[in-house]
Amino acid sequence: MTSLTKTRWVYAFGGGAADGDASMKNLLGGKGANLAEMSSLGLPVPPGFTITTECCTHYYANEQRYPDDMKAQVEQGLARVEELTGKRFGDAVNPLLVSVRSGARASMPGMMDTVLNLGLNDQTVEGLAKLSGDRRFAFDSYRRFIQMYSNVVLDLDHHMFEEILDEHKERLDVTVDTALTAEDWEKVVADYKKAVAAELGSDFPQDPQAQLWGAVGAVFASWMNDRAKFYRRMHDIPESWGTAVNIQSMVFGNMGETSATGVAFTRNPSTGEARLYGEFLINAQGEDVVAGIRTPQALTRIAREEMGDKQPSMEEALPEVFEQFKAAVDRLESHYRDMQDIEFTVEQGRLYMLQTRNGKRTAKAALKIAVDLAAQGVITQEEAIMRVEPASLDQLLHPTIDPASERDVIAQGLPASPGAATGKIVFDADEAERLAAIHESVILVRDETSPEDIHGMHAAKAILTARGGMTSHAAVVARGMGRPCVSGAGEVQIHAKAGEFRVRGRTFKAGEIITVDGSTGEVLAGAVKMIEPELTGDFATLMVWADALRRLKVRANAETPLDARTARQFGAEGIGLCRTEHMFFEEDRISAVREMILASDEKGRRTALAKILPMQRADFVELFTIMEGLPVTIRLLDPPLHEFLPHTEEDLKALAQSAGLELAVLERRVKELHETNPMLGHRGCRLGVSYPEIYEMQVRAIFEAACEIAESGKTPPCPEIMHPLVAKGEEMKFLRQLTDRVAKQVLAERKLDFPYLVGTMVELPRAAIRAADLAENAEFFSFGTNDLTQTTFGISRDDSGRFLAAYMDKGIFEKDPFVSLDQEGVGDLIRIAAERGRAQRPEIKLGICGEHGGDPASIDFCERVGLDYVSCSPYRVPIARLAAAQSAIGEREKDR
Ligand code: PEP
Ligand code: MG
Repeated sequence: MTSLTKTRWVYAFGGGAADGDASMKNLLGGKGANLAEMSSLGLPVPPGFTITTECCTHYYANEQRYPDDMKAQVEQGLARVEELTGKRFGDAVNPLLVSVRSGARASMPGMMDTVLNLGLNDQTVEGLAKLSGDRRFAFDSYRRFIQMYSNVVLDLDHHMFEEILDEHKERLDVTVDTALTAEDWEKVVADYKKAVAAELGSDFPQDPQAQLWGAVGAVFASWMNDRAKFYRRMHDIPESWGTAVNIQSMVFGNMGETSATGVAFTRNPSTGEARLYGEFLINAQGEDVVAGIRTPQALTRIAREEMGDKQPSMEEALPEVFEQFKAAVDRLESHYRDMQDIEFTVEQGRLYMLQTRNGKRTAKAALKIAVDLAAQGVITQEEAIMRVEPASLDQLLHPTIDPASERDVIAQGLPASPGAATGKIVFDADEAERLAAIHESVILVRDETSPEDIHGMHAAKAILTARGGMTSHAAVVARGMGRPCVSGAGEVQIHAKAGEFRVRGRTFKAGEIITVDGSTGEVLAGAVKMIEPELTGDFATLMVWADALRRLKVRANAETPLDARTARQFGAEGIGLCRTEHMFFEEDRISAVREMILASDEKGRRTALAKILPMQRADFVELFTIMEGLPVTIRLLDPPLHEFLPHTEEDLKALAQSAGLELAVLERRVKELHETNPMLGHRGCRLGVSYPEIYEMQVRAIFEAACEIAESGKTPPCPEIMHPLVAKGEEMKFLRQLTDRVAKQVLAERKLDFPYLVGTMVELPRAAIRAADLAENAEFFSFGTNDLTQTTFGISRDDSGRFLAAYMDKGIFEKDPFVSLDQEGVGDLIRIAAERGRAQRPEIKLGICGEHGGDPASIDFCERVGLDYVSCSPYRVPIARLAAAQSAIGEREKDR
């Protein structure tokens, strides 16, 4: 049966009306939906239409063919634009020119393709020349179009065109494009066309219809380019969303001194300050601002004065248009109730709004804007909480440069993305990626960045560019990624081929260490002392609001006093995982630990354990003191014993000597401990079952420490003793008895009593499935999702990096399951374990302590299955607090 209602593939906008609106982002993409909304608001939007994301999805589902009835709808759309503008597409006298731009549901800046000035050919360029009264402008536009179209649609290298232009400039003995006359541009155009014909074996397409369909195809194709794929992976954007295509009548910011183009944010995207912020260029096209080739001018007089810039601001250069613009941006911010990122063009004194969207912002700005808007009553506290991306808080949870430290400032640029980082100078994105893969910290140093550099920017700890403003590619992408960035440090002269840059009479070579301070714009020689982040101001305010709304408790994985203090400072409500083996590695005890491992019998082991006991006890006293009565989950020894032994010949010899053993004996013992598959071997509670004396020592240390705290008059902690890698109910029973026996002994010795819990990690599929057996003796479960992921997939958590990338490229995994919980598979096991555990023991406490405990998507899962708490690394605690609040709000919304 054929459907009677035809699918609508094309939505018109402009001329004070629109088919769509801002709520239709999924169908029209962000750009298309907002163009429609702005049109309906009566703002000056050049008329155009949007081809839907559904069309893109259809295109990819049908061997890259357009739907049958789409062509007619595009023609109708174009006819409407012709009517509104009074121009005709392809007309030699009064030609309509259009831009063709991508626009996905989520913004993907610079990742996909755009073609401007489309519709120009040998005839229409003459029409444009007459119409504008500016032949130079017309041919300049034509050459830009040929270059852009050839690059984007015909896949020709843009360097070819740059070389031709350089030859012309050399011949004319000029250095800047503005020195070229109309005749010069005509010659450049002729050479461009010749070059295209030579490369392609056919002429540059002259038919505007052919140009249009070529560009639409290229935009759809750019959804699948490597950059876009990489960006999607990084930002969890599903491939199935597709992109829309926006076709819009061109307006020109390069039609003389009363024309301009720019970008604006209604608030500062770096700091959140509530003041119009942005840049513009007189007599330029949009790409000139973003490309960072010319240094743009400020929008407002105040900003210009603060920057000490000599070029006039928009407020001063184009006062009337500025007033109109200011009114439009204020209207947009109050309409969208959020900070807007706006693109605009002024064509011969007339303002046009080309784009608005909720502006990308740093975490610091996001917090300030959310808290400010809530304080003004524009949004609710719940909305404020939902406005801040939990993962972005990571930007604020890292060290910044200690203001008291000495700074050897070598250059000053723009503070494009906050935070500071130290690393080795690298001039190339591939090299940055290569070095980062071997755990080197690198700073990517470039004249400017382009979307091809995105993998290098991701790999780098920070980015430094010599050119470009606050909205240059480097600045925008770095802010989005949370990388510190200094842009436009013009005094830095980069000689990438020579592997060095020069600045203020000094030379810095690739591999030398520098520090980039994206908060001040300073570049410093060498490494600089950093200070720990603090949770204050807007950040603290939002956290208080979040805490009031979340249900899940948030604990930290911590074993050192430093980690425990950091965790508390960031608001952890207890320790969810103290990995006791980390305490075994400390220098003052590793020899006793090795003695225990090397002992040939129980007696020998007990002697060594007696030496470790006071040290472990002291560790726990410190931990309990810091945690002041909050719950502390202590996991007993987990890794296979061979991990504590040295591996190099030299270290073995040294150990033999210090332990008074023959090297041969030692080597034999190391061999005995060797396992083919240690992660599935003699580890976890299996150690406690084979050598109960190890766990007995640890339980004793825990309880003696707790008694010490209680005896000193402080609040005794509630120790939670956790057994790792349990698979069977009988194992749990054995471990429970062991724990209770030692606990009771110590409590009796000290004549004290306080509550404690005994529980298990759930790290094995069998443990999850037989959760009821475990719950007979376990008072809590903590999902060890690192191991549970490893054992569920049968994929080694240590080696998966080598091949998971291929799985993600092929779309078999959307995300790395060791980073974000596999909710279907591992998640199902968690659900089963929670249900069966609760059925056996209704009051059982449930938490998660694998890395996933700090991942917002995984936290959302934990909220939905009703766990009691998540536990994550101390620096992720604020992220988890916010994510937990967002999930709780989300769940409540569902119930409404
Ligand atoms: C786990 O397996 O998820 C866990 C937290 O334990 P570990 O990472 O120490 O194996
Ligand atoms: Mg584990």
